[in-house]
Amino acid sequence: MIRTLLKDLAPTALASGAVLFHEHLSIHYPLTNALALKQGAAQPTHFSDDVNLMIEETRSAGKEGVSCIVDGGHPDMDRNLAALKRIAAESGVHIVASGGYYMERTYPPEIAMKSADQIADELVRDAKVEHLGAYGEIGQQGGELTPDERKVFMAVGKAHVRAGLPIFTHNAYTGTRMVNPPVPREAALRQLDVLEAAGAKPQHIAIGHVCCLDDPAVDIARQVARRGAFVGFDRVTIQILPDSKRVAMILSLLEAGYVENLLLSSDFSIARSLKKNGGAGLAQTITVFGKMLLDAGVKQETLHTILVDNPRRFLAFVPRP
Ligand SMILES: [Zn+2]
Ligand SMILES: [Zn+2]
Repeated sequence: MIRTLLKDLAPTALASGAVLFHEHLSIHYPLTNALALKQGAAQPTHFSDDVNLMIEETRSAGKEGVSCIVDGGHPDMDRNLAALKRIAAESGVHIVASGGYYMERTYPPEIAMKSADQIADELVRDAKVEHLGAYGEIGQQGGELTPDERKVFMAVGKAHVRAGLPIFTHNAYTGTRMVNPPVPREAALRQLDVLEAAGAKPQHIAIGHVCCLDDPAVDIARQVARRGAFVGFDRVTIQILPDSKRVAMILSLLEAGYVENLLLSSDFSIARSLKKNGGAGLAQTITVFGKMLLDAGVKQETLHTILVDNPRRFLAFVPRP
């Protein structure tokens, strides 16, 4: 089953449209409430604070073929669960809410004092109490996992083993932009290493932001897929890497036979993407990027596999007693 915020559903119940596995409907980014407090800055605001607006935008996405949206936020990103419930109830689009922690800079201070097992206990408990359907986005702020980030990845892997919920991650890949030190190309593989070491199975893991690694030969993406995990092209339309390069990478992955490992989403969090502001809206993964794939010769049925079937397989789990 797939655990949406309002009810558990059989995967067949979401077959009518695309399932976007990593968007944001409620978030403060990049400044969170806690970070602002620490820096003595004013409390941050974000367009998603306007829940009525997000209901409207989500309803539009439903009309454009989206059946379900996974929200990639959690408390340390100021994700508001009550807001997500309202959006799900009033937009007609199913919403999956997530648990976990984002990255070192957003961790609450107590993370440093806890063991991976203690954190895992809490993740399992919170997921149950709050009816969460995934762990994500679980990230790292730089190219290497810090000791606490490694601990959180271990904790999430352990929580997955106990609760069954799928995991999606965040990588710090910077596309064609140079940073010092550079983000190692293998960062995606190191995340998978830690999650697997904690007992998580690759078929329940989506390695995120692989579409922000400038890797025309899709060397890293192929290694992620070969190990059985999902490859997240989950920042489509965000120009960290041009979408044209992403399309070429996807064509290569399809040619290599990895259609069942691909997941698409747009990491929605920028105001100019809103319909209200003349942007493409929450369905941009279909209406903008999906169209580019079709124009590049990808078959409609292949796109359907990637947008509708793969994410349902990723999200589905057998609840533990
Ligand atoms: Zn991210
Ligand atoms: Zn995100």
